[in-house]
Amino acid sequence: MSAGLVQAAYIIAAIFFIFSLAGLSKQESARQGNYYGIVGMAIALIATIFSPEAQGFGWIIVAMAIGGTIGIFYARKVEMTEMPELVAILHSFVGMAAVLVGYNSYIEPPAPISVDLVEQHAEHVIHLVEVFLGVFIGAVTFTGSVVAFGKLRGVISSSPLNLPHKHKMNLAAVVVSTLLMIYFVKADGSMFALIVMTLIAFAFGYHLVASIGGADMPVVVSMLNSYSGWAAAAAGFMLANDLLIVTGALVGSSGAILSYIMCKAMNRSFVSVIAGGFGQEVEISSDVEYGEHTEITAEEVAELLKESKSVIITPGYGMAVAQAQYPVHEITEKLRAKGIDVRFGIHPVAGRLPGHMNVLLAEAKVPYDIVLEMDELNDDFPETDTVLVIGANDTVNPAALEDPNSPIAGMPVLEVWNAKNVIVFKRSMNTGYAGVQNPLFFKDNTSMLFGDAKDSVDAISKAI
Ligand code: NDP
Repeated sequence: MSAGLVQAAYIIAAIFFIFSLAGLSKQESARQGNYYGIVGMAIALIATIFSPEAQGFGWIIVAMAIGGTIGIFYARKVEMTEMPELVAILHSFVGMAAVLVGYNSYIEPPAPISVDLVEQHAEHVIHLVEVFLGVFIGAVTFTGSVVAFGKLRGVISSSPLNLPHKHKMNLAAVVVSTLLMIYFVKADGSMFALIVMTLIAFAFGYHLVASIGGADMPVVVSMLNSYSGWAAAAAGFMLANDLLIVTGALVGSSGAILSYIMCKAMNRSFVSVIAGGFGQEVEISSDVEYGEHTEITAEEVAELLKESKSVIITPGYGMAVAQAQYPVHEITEKLRAKGIDVRFGIHPVAGRLPGHMNVLLAEAKVPYDIVLEMDELNDDFPETDTVLVIGANDTVNPAALEDPNSPIAGMPVLEVWNAKNVIVFKRSMNTGYAGVQNPLFFKDNTSMLFGDAKDSVDAISKAI
C-alpha cells in the first residue's frame, strides 16, 4: 500500500471513529456506533499492517492471533458485573504499551526527516520530550489502572489510602519528574533519568488511585479512560502515526468530558479530581440508631403494584449482580398492559460503570423512552405511588442530602423516599459500595424485600 493510500485510509478511519463516538452518545444509536468503531478499527489495522514502514508481517499476524484469541476468550466469558474490571485492566494495557513504545523509540530513534542540521537537532529534542512524556503518562495510567482493577474486583480495599503528606508527595512526584525531563533533554537522552522517572511515575499512578475513596471510583474509571487516550496519543507521536494521535486525542478528550459529567453527578470539583487528592477523611460512624425496618413479601408487593397508578423503578448494582433485568422487563410489560405508568430512574453512577444500567436494560429490551435520567424524574417522586429500588443503595441514600458528615454528602441522589411507597430489593441490611448505612431502609414508607433480586422479581411477576 502506498504512503498516500495509507494516509487516505487513516482519514476515513478517523471519520468512522468520530461517527462511532456520536453514535455511542445515545442509546438508540449505540449499537450502530459500535459498528462504526469496528469498521474504523478494521480499516486502521489493515492500512497499518500493509503500510510501507511495516516490517515482520509474520510476527504481526502471530501477535494478533494470540492477542485476539485471548481477547475473544475473555470478552465472551466476562459477566456484565465484571465489565468495569475488564475496562480498567484494558486501560492498563494501553498504559504499558505507551511505556514500551517509549523505551523502544528511545533505543531506536526514528531517522531525521530534515537535512538541515539545526532542524535535525530540534527534531531530536522534540523526540526526547515525546519519549519522556509518553513513558510518564503510560506508567501513571498502567499502575493507576491496575489499582482501579484491584479496587473494583475487591482484592484491594476500596477505602482510601491516607498516607501522611499525600498531596505533597504527589506534587513532589510531578516536580521531580519535570526536573528529570529537563536533565534528560540536556544530557541528550540519559537512560538513568528515564528509568528513575518511570519508577516515580509507576509509584505516582499507584498512589493517585489508591488514595481515592470507594464512592469516587466512577470518576477514577472515567479519568483513567481519558489518561489511556492521552497515553495512546503520546505513543502516536513517538511512532509518527497520525491515526494513533487522532484516536488517542478522541479517547482522551471524550474521557475527560465523561469525567466532567461524572464529577457533576458526584458533586466533586474537576480540578481536585485531576489533582488526585480527594480521599474521604470522614469517620464513618456505625453506632447511629436508625430504628426498625419493615419487611414485605413478594405477593404483597404484587398487590401494591396492581393498585398503583404510577411506578418508578430505580435499578442499581444489585440488579446487575442478580441479572434481574429480564424479569424486571417482564413485570414492566405486565404492569403497562394493565394501564399502569412504569418508568425507570437512572442515577449517573448507578452500577460500576458509566451507563451500566442503561446497557442492562437495553439488553433486556426495555423501551428507551421509559428509561429516564435522574434529573428528568427527580421531581416526580411525590406524585408516584410505588418505587421499586432494585439492588440500588448509595444512589438512593437520603444521607447524601440530609447528613453533612456523610462521606457521600452533597452527591445528588434519586429522591425515592418522597414517593408514597418504597420497596427495597436486597439480600441483607449491608451497606453499598461507599460503605455507608442507608436511612432510607428505616423510613415509615419503606419496606424491605429480602432475597436475590432476580428471585424476588420472578416471584412478583408470577403473583401479578
Ligand atoms: P451500591 O453498590 O451502592 O449497592 C448495591 C446493593 O445491591 C447492595 O447494597 C447489595 O446489598 C445489593 N445487592 C447485591 N447483590 C444483590 C443481589 N444478587 N440481589 C439483590 N440485591 C443485591 O449500588 P448503586 O448502584 O446504588 O451505587 C453504585 C455505587 O458504586 C456508588 O457508590 C458509585 O459511586 C460506585 N461506583 C460506580 C461506578 C460507575 O461508574 N457507575 C464505578 C465504581 C464505583 P446486599 O448485599 O444486602 O444484597
